[in-house]
Amino acid sequence: MIELTGVTKRYAGGVVAVGGVSLRVDRGELVAIVGPSGSGKSTMLHLIGTLDRPSTGSVRIDGYDVARLRDRELSALRSSRIGFVFQQFHLAPGVPVVENVADGLLYAGVPLRERRRRAAAALHRVGLDHRLDHRPHELSGGERQRVAIARAVVGEPPLLLADEPTGNLDSASGAGILDLLHELNRAGTTVVVITHDREIAASLPRQVRMRDGLVVADSPALVGSSVLADSSVGGDR
Ligand code: ADP
Repeated sequence: MIELTGVTKRYAGGVVAVGGVSLRVDRGELVAIVGPSGSGKSTMLHLIGTLDRPSTGSVRIDGYDVARLRDRELSALRSSRIGFVFQQFHLAPGVPVVENVADGLLYAGVPLRERRRRAAAALHRVGLDHRLDHRPHELSGGERQRVAIARAVVGEPPLLLADEPTGNLDSASGAGILDLLHELNRAGTTVVVITHDREIAASLPRQVRMRDGLVVADSPALVGSSVLADSSVGGDR
């Protein structure tokens, strides 16, 4: 699903945010990218999400070499295959939840009625079908993040990228969001979660640890990862 080979990212001003990373993530994996602030995690997410191109090295997503795609093809790849979830939710204020989620299909050229139908189905999937007409400010933080996840998966992308998805949540809501990510993964979505929280990382089947722009540790990927992870975290899941 993801194949980075010798990837570097140097920003204007000379900061090397990613200093030569090779990483492979197979379909169906659930992976944490973990490391201290400034270690290059967000830059990695931008590279994997094709929001940014590497300075050197190659990024392949679902078999496509990002460097070989024109901007339009890249947007098409992104909108059809990658869902994004961020710490700050990024929902449109004052807009009903179902419309916020339906907007996740704007670029797919789906007619309005169908967008709404699929949005309602995605909200059902995240346990919010009783909140379709609420505005984001009428929801708790955990519920807002569920809406953001519904929007990210409404187009059924094979890959979901989450950047500190529990960073703004209390621990109970955060645990609920993690459960939801596990559930989406069990249903077949490849999930990459960026976190600086070691506890969250430890609850996921594979951890890629970054420091100073490099991968310094990578726990072995387990075959049938989510099933094994469920038995290995123990207790709460
Ligand atoms: P993390 O997500 O682990 O906190 P980042 O990927 O955001 O790390 O940042 C890695 C390094 O790159 C940091 O030193 C940061 O200051 C720098 N950096 C990030 N974005 C930019 C940018 N747009 N321009 C210049 N430097 C940047």
